[in-house]
Amino acid sequence: MDEFSLIRQFFSARQNRLEDNGVTLGIGDDAAIINPDPGEQLLITTDTLISGVHFPAQTSARAVGHKALAVNLSDIAAMGGRPRWLTLALSLPSADATWLKMFSDGLFALADQYAVELVGGDTTKGPLSITITVIGSIATDEAIKRSGAQPGDAIFVTGQPGMAALGLADIQGKIKLPDTEQAVYRSKLEYPHPRLSEGQYLQSFVSSMIDISDGLAADLEHILVASGCAAIVNPEILTRGLARATDLPTTFIENAVLHGGDDYELLFTVPDQQLATLKQTWPEELAPLCEIGRITKGTGIRVQNHNGNVSKLTIHGYNHFNE
Ligand code: ADP
Ligand code: MG
Repeated sequence: MDEFSLIRQFFSARQNRLEDNGVTLGIGDDAAIINPDPGEQLLITTDTLISGVHFPAQTSARAVGHKALAVNLSDIAAMGGRPRWLTLALSLPSADATWLKMFSDGLFALADQYAVELVGGDTTKGPLSITITVIGSIATDEAIKRSGAQPGDAIFVTGQPGMAALGLADIQGKIKLPDTEQAVYRSKLEYPHPRLSEGQYLQSFVSSMIDISDGLAADLEHILVASGCAAIVNPEILTRGLARATDLPTTFIENAVLHGGDDYELLFTVPDQQLATLKQTWPEELAPLCEIGRITKGTGIRVQNHNGNVSKLTIHGYNHFNE
């Protein structure tokens, strides 16, 4: 199979050609032509997944296809936007049709769910790596940045951070999750669900937002640095549920909740005057919200642990060039 039949069979033949998607020209020319709607801005985000770095080499191709897109959709969610188009740059050691079929199935299942259209890419031979760019859109000046948090704002997360890290530790044989929990935790790691509906709903309530990829503490620190403030957090609500379900030591669970990466939950801050309405109107079909702390003046994160003691937190999320 040569480069062009590979592109045709697994990618261009499966384009959606959705109505009203703003695509004048998709795959096949030197560049795609897309049209943003009037009154909207474009949101552009890129993420690379490298085999052995971002996913274990034995990960199923379907999960790799899903996750490569999901991590990018999560960035659009964190801005409060709507994903529209994507490009795919694939580096493959060989043209393995079975792998490509599974990979593209995983990718298109998620793309179709959110009506995101593949409009181009690049295909090369080399070590397995996947780079996806997603282009999203949002009404002009409505995107949520990391820099808007203010002292007094409440800090929230969606869902249950820490599960992906426990799923990875289980796959690596470092822990043994109960049989009843294992599949759910592993699927959090391999098939993260981008919180797009949540991000779009939150857009009119929040002062800052980020998606959790490096760990709750590391990503909260990104908000704090961008906004010039500090935070006090109490992760107990998050640790309690996980400790009950897994029977692992509390300190181990606390570590997964605060420092485990790969959850792709949303972390955001809410001004006091928006709090009551957000809590009262939060649609029940969306991921549950959990209030975990407050923005304060100063720098850094302080944590209130299960004994009530407050201590300064040292961040050890994932950082590629940190030896
Ligand atoms: P060029 O040499 O002009 O960069 P290519 O031969 O790399 O063009 O690609 C031909 C067409 O196929 C382009 O429209 C490109 O966007 C698309 N394409 C290449 N690889 C992929 C891929 N993995 N997924 C989607 N589209 C792709
Ligand atoms: Mg090319």
